[in-house]
Amino acid sequence: MAFWPSIVVATPAHSGVGATLTYRSELSLAPGALVRVPLGSREVLGVVWDCPDAPPEGLTEARTKAVAGVLEGLPALNGCWRQLVKFSAQYYQRSLGEVALAALPPQLRELDSTQLARRLRRRAKAAAGVPPTAPEALQGHDLSAEQAGALQALAAATAPVLLYGATGSGKTEVYLRATQAVLETAAPENEAPTQVLVMVPEINLTPQLEARFRERFEPAFGIGSVVCLHSGMTPAQRLTSWLAAHTGSARIVLGTRMAVFASLPGLRLIVVDEEHDPSYKSQEGARYSARDLAVYRAKVESEALANAPHPSPLPPSGEGERPRCQVLLGSATPSLESWHAADQGRYLRLEMPGRIGGGALPRLRLVDMNHQPKGAVLAPPLVAAMGERIARGEQCLVLLNRRGYAPVLACHDCGWKSGCPHCSAYRVFHKLDRTLRCHHCGFTERVPRACPDCGNLDIAPVGRGTEQIEEQLAGLLADVKRPDGSPARVARMDADSTRLKGSLEVQLAALHSGEVDVLVGTQMIAKGHDFRRITLVAGINADSALFASDYRAPERLFALLMQAAGRAGRDAAQSGASEMWIQTWYPQHPLFVTLKKHDYPAFAAEQLTEREQAGMPPYGFQALLRADARTQQAAQAFLNIAAEQAAGLPHRDDITLYPAVPLTIQRVANVERAQMLVETDSRGALQRFLSAWQPVLHACRSAPEAKGLVRWAVDVDPLSI
Ligand code: ADP
Ligand code: ZN
Ligand code: ZN
Repeated sequence: MAFWPSIVVATPAHSGVGATLTYRSELSLAPGALVRVPLGSREVLGVVWDCPDAPPEGLTEARTKAVAGVLEGLPALNGCWRQLVKFSAQYYQRSLGEVALAALPPQLRELDSTQLARRLRRRAKAAAGVPPTAPEALQGHDLSAEQAGALQALAAATAPVLLYGATGSGKTEVYLRATQAVLETAAPENEAPTQVLVMVPEINLTPQLEARFRERFEPAFGIGSVVCLHSGMTPAQRLTSWLAAHTGSARIVLGTRMAVFASLPGLRLIVVDEEHDPSYKSQEGARYSARDLAVYRAKVESEALANAPHPSPLPPSGEGERPRCQVLLGSATPSLESWHAADQGRYLRLEMPGRIGGGALPRLRLVDMNHQPKGAVLAPPLVAAMGERIARGEQCLVLLNRRGYAPVLACHDCGWKSGCPHCSAYRVFHKLDRTLRCHHCGFTERVPRACPDCGNLDIAPVGRGTEQIEEQLAGLLADVKRPDGSPARVARMDADSTRLKGSLEVQLAALHSGEVDVLVGTQMIAKGHDFRRITLVAGINADSALFASDYRAPERLFALLMQAAGRAGRDAAQSGASEMWIQTWYPQHPLFVTLKKHDYPAFAAEQLTEREQAGMPPYGFQALLRADARTQQAAQAFLNIAAEQAAGLPHRDDITLYPAVPLTIQRVANVERAQMLVETDSRGALQRFLSAWQPVLHACRSAPEAKGLVRWAVDVDPLSI
């Protein structure tokens, strides 16, 4: 007997290849089974989607190829995983093959059955070799009343949970306890052991979190019970983690946004830490939001468990309504989308307003730059305050969202500026290695000795970046002594200083150990860290975001400043004297007034009102059609033709297509970029319209006006427009 499995293989996003390809097989293959199949002249990895015993109409045996082999020893990917992948492909307008294969570890594509078998044997041995050392070791802090309350409410929650907890309120302990509760629930026989997925924005930034999970769970559940999954790992490491999760030997997967696609047969809880963080949204390939997919995935997993053919013998929970897979979104500054969902009752909001130990949030001090000495980059009172802190043995953070020494180098004689020849952007002056570096395309050159246009020797930096602030502070604080009489130490942490593997950990350790007194850095220093001796945080150029054109800029700025402030005074004993300083030319700005009160709910309410009036997300729904081309004209032509050809498509009347516009940074690496905003007040309409538009977009590619088009993409629920 022959079978005719339909199989998903990696297809380029817009290749036009149908969702699945039909092959032939002697054996019946389980949906979700991993196979190797011939494609063109190669043999590629595929996922069985379906396995009927009759060929689809019109296909004959002669026209189909046989499945080359099954990856033995690997259980099939389960229905929930396939549903997640299918939904993601549909929702984000990509091909099923692209999403499915991107969700698997790249190395799986290269292994043949023998190599894989060897891997699996090694895995099994490793897993068996390290029994728990201390099964009773699970111990955490004694819970605060707020933590206990949150956990109790979580246990009974029937909807996705939004944990709105102040910075330093102890959200991590809630994640740990919630995880523990899941792991201690025995899975019914024949079912995979219970598993938890914990997502963080950038794992390297929070080595502490990983350490806490390992410390807490490895003694009780064995080495290997906690695995990581993120793009900083080698392909071999990723495969190892993935296999551990897929086969159920890993009970906790800790990862970045890509981990949302991990195969987790026993998944019962998904935690999304710092759920507001923009890095949960992918900016390439399928532009998915891992936070949104986490919510979707929890729902799918719950439905599947509720409908399981053999009802699990777990005690019925409450009224029987509690989802079997919960999702817990945590933040001190939730995204407005999640906040709105909680307002509407779609999510359950749990609050932990107090800091552990009862400490206060730092006092906000606005420095009016209109009243500072002309040309001062750092206000003298701020520098003085930092000096006092250092003398008392306390630490300071200085936040500036721009790395390098200066954003531009300029000649004051002829007006030359350090533009990038390949981009419509300036190259940043990096003084340490005396280079001009483009932060968009990477183009790097040595700083010229003289102005390339007029020969003037006096070319000077304009504006400032972290390198310069570090240099200035070192000078300004040169006479400040620490309590032991040694001189104050200033360090810097940004994408440049942390490029080398391991350097970030070293820099964080220097701060934690007290070796460094002042850390200057980009938003990297504001995120999630549990610094114990910081009592002063300063934001020195917040103004640029106050008047940005992106409607999400205020939300981002508010979150960033509140998160940054949250790094100060985490030790309750010092919190009373902790401060957040902000240098601004607009001290009366309403955003600062609300920030001063640490009043996120007021800020959110005000922003949501504005968004509602303007029909912006979360009240309206958006997508972007993006086009990259050799010329701006071609890019825009593609968008305009696409808009014309949309006439008559379903829901066209419910959709607003805005005019094509160049991106703010119009040209990157000699490619011109343009986009068109698609807007509507119905998510369903947007989805149906975009699906119908896909084939049209494929066809528009070959329009003569769009000659020179390099690529196009749809971004659903874009984060910046
Ligand atoms: P958040 O993520 O909410 O900003 P953390 O989870 O980092 O806060 O917790 C802040 C600090 O409080 C950490 O040092 C943590 O170890 C400590 N902590 C958390 N819960 C408790 C508790 N119940 N008792 C004592 N300390 C706690
Ligand atoms: Zn010049
Ligand atoms: Zn460039």
